[in-house]
Amino acid sequence: MPDFAYARHRMVERQLAGRGIADARVLGAMGEVPREAFVSEGMEEFAYEDSPLPIEAGQTISQPYIVGLMVEAAAVRPGERVLEIGAGSGYAAAVMSRIAADVYAIERHEPLTRLAQGRLDKLGYHNIHLKTGDGSGGWPDAAPFDAIVAAAGGPTVPERLTSQLAIGGRLVMPVGDEQRHQRLLKLTRLSEAEFKQEDLGEVFFVPLIGEHGWTEDDRRSPSEPRSFREPQRPDTISELIARATEPLPDFEDPAFGYLFDRFAGAKVVLLGESSHGASEFYRARAAITKRLIDRHGFRIVAVEADWPDAAHFDRYVRDLPPPKHDEPPFRRFPAWMWRNTDVESFIEDLREWNLARPEQDRAGFYGLDLYNLSASIRAVLDYLDRVDPEAAGIARTRYGCLTPWAKEPQAYGRMALSRGYRDCEEGVVKTLTEMLQKRRQYARADGAAFLDAEGNARLVKNAEAYYRAMYYGSAESWNLRDTHMFETLCSLLDAGGPNAKAIVWAHNSHIGDASKTEMGLERDELNIGQLCRERFGRDACLIGFGTHTGTVACADDWDEPMQVKRVTPSLPDSYERLAHDSGVGRFMLDLRDGVHDPLRHRLLAPRLERFIGVIYRPETERWSHYAACSIPQQFDAYVWFDETTAVTPLLSETRSGGEETYPFGL
Ligand code: SAH
Repeated sequence: MPDFAYARHRMVERQLAGRGIADARVLGAMGEVPREAFVSEGMEEFAYEDSPLPIEAGQTISQPYIVGLMVEAAAVRPGERVLEIGAGSGYAAAVMSRIAADVYAIERHEPLTRLAQGRLDKLGYHNIHLKTGDGSGGWPDAAPFDAIVAAAGGPTVPERLTSQLAIGGRLVMPVGDEQRHQRLLKLTRLSEAEFKQEDLGEVFFVPLIGEHGWTEDDRRSPSEPRSFREPQRPDTISELIARATEPLPDFEDPAFGYLFDRFAGAKVVLLGESSHGASEFYRARAAITKRLIDRHGFRIVAVEADWPDAAHFDRYVRDLPPPKHDEPPFRRFPAWMWRNTDVESFIEDLREWNLARPEQDRAGFYGLDLYNLSASIRAVLDYLDRVDPEAAGIARTRYGCLTPWAKEPQAYGRMALSRGYRDCEEGVVKTLTEMLQKRRQYARADGAAFLDAEGNARLVKNAEAYYRAMYYGSAESWNLRDTHMFETLCSLLDAGGPNAKAIVWAHNSHIGDASKTEMGLERDELNIGQLCRERFGRDACLIGFGTHTGTVACADDWDEPMQVKRVTPSLPDSYERLAHDSGVGRFMLDLRDGVHDPLRHRLLAPRLERFIGVIYRPETERWSHYAACSIPQQFDAYVWFDETTAVTPLLSETRSGGEETYPFGL
């Protein structure tokens, strides 16, 4: 059972007070109302996440911060009468009922009203008057109100509502031309006829559907005088992006690499990706990496892959004999990540570049990831398949969600209920320990230069703790993994001497500074990008990659076959959509301080960013793959491909001649 009281306390501290909500009454009320009682069944675990959540009838319960912001803006005071339009789960009404004397709340979906009433009764919140109906015209019989809060967005502020405000009353409502994209407006009634209007910023609410809002069917706005519409902005963010971006030439064009020369002074350049399966990301990183190696003295390429597997590629590019143990590299799920045509051609190019140089000047290819992530997952699944197939099914889903972003609420609900899962821990850890011992023997027999006794000891220590934490899918497992990657990177740099420079290839979730996203702010998760910034300051350069649509190589679940899926066009309230709307097909955007400041400033406020790992679940995309982030704070630059294509995995059948080509043959 999650510790809800603690989660609620953290939510108040971080999501509310930490973001500037200062009204003690609001903080107190939100610290009191149990939000877990208002989410759908099975979603309780996510009740204090920093995001809206889906509820019944296709509606949402607002993000806690938005509820706090609206109630604070409405300046609800003891003794007052408040109207809420769009009661939904009943949560916001419950919060306001802890401050005001009476809350009147209207919801158009009867099943939601019924559920909300049940919750409020159970909690004994008796000063809320709830009814089903169209609230866009207010609740004239109960007017006037000291505050009116609308939790759904309309094209205008209906006059019917403003007329129900008491003198001195406040109305807070999302208003916008688009159905799901609004500005949060606050109107204060100064006198019978005078109103003061304030704009509280950009928001994304579900539409207000009704006589004085949007019509349900054709989604056009009814003809209502648009008295309180905001003035048009001179430039949209997308127009500013279009002006600031530098278009990317072909991957083979040397000009591609030039664009990144400005970052070459760094000691570590980290290159991200927003999925593990798009060809453009690999080719762009290859082009940048080759340039940094050829012109700027970088000699370490360190990637998000298992150490022993990457060692095969390393031996090949440096023309050393293959490692002694015979397990061929990158055969396990998700093999397409490193066994694909783009990686193959990069490895061939690197080998060719190296062969023209003396041994000590050659560039190496290393795996940073926790030894041996995919093998360890494999071992757990094999074991559970044998002893407890139900637990195996849960483990598959759990591993499929092994990113800090992936939220699969229904699946998590199921997991929480299964005792079998917990009962298996001992067997799982034993299986993993045995596997680890076997790998240690390999490493000893191998005796590779870098895998010295100390490094090996660290691997074992980190891996054991990791396996245990990973089994429960906690933040701790993420942190152990990224700390391990960072330690491995540092030891590679140390081994390369004081002037050593490295390029890292890993997912955006590892590279974008976690301290600037909900990962760090909400869940205490750190990552390699953040650790590099802390250690190297401006000598760390973090570059994120993104896309709007196209195809991606991925799987439904851990260990399932690779598929090529269509990437759903990006959501309207995402960074990706802003980039898409710039109309520039492929670009690099320099996000460093002082370069494009007006744009950077406009991009700072958090928005959604998409994260696709090896698992892609378009059906639950908003919850499984998007998180609120601040791209200019996460990254020093952003590379964009509006449309991307799935990587082509290497299969032996597709290779002509039948000759096995080390290290890519089967
Ligand atoms: N305050 C809610 C948020 C609900 S989302 C909470 O804390 O959970 C907005 C709600 O507005 C939806 O449930 C939607 O059904 C409702 N809604 C939309 N148009 C409405 C209208 N004209 N009258 C009443 N409710 C409406």
